[in-house]
Amino acid sequence: MEVIRNFADRAPMDLDAMARALGVEVRRGQNLAANVSGKIERRGAGFVATINAAHSAKRQRSTLAHELAHRIFHSDLIGDGISDDGLYRSSVSDDIERQANAFAAGRLVPARLVRKLYREGMKDTPSIAERFDVSDDAARVRLRELFG
Ligand SMILES: [Zn+2]
Repeated sequence: MEVIRNFADRAPMDLDAMARALGVEVRRGQNLAANVSGKIERRGAGFVATINAAHSAKRQRSTLAHELAHRIFHSDLIGDGISDDGLYRSSVSDDIERQANAFAAGRLVPARLVRKLYREGMKDTPSIAERFDVSDDAARVRLRELFG
């Protein structure tokens, strides 16, 4: 968890640096099926996360954060690989996927930081999305989670 704390509360957060710190090589997959967001697999002593390069840059960030969550919390479940579809569903349980989504949201749009910006007047979805380099949808969901 120490590794994760080093990346707390930065906007936008440096996912590639976090991947390196976790021993995850990030590949942009050119040939993934359209309904695959990304996957993570063991490779030797480390891991490889493949992100669907056909998706938008912001979507790719969400996918990478999600795959890194699998590396952090579910490395014992990765086995031959976890492959996530467009809704971040996979062969592992929905609870596992929810945990990965929650982690991704919390890292991409950290609560402490977004609360501070909100108090300072940044309350609209497009500004939050821009500041944290996430999709409007991701920003909207996070604002709803934090502020109702
Ligand atoms: Zn997943």
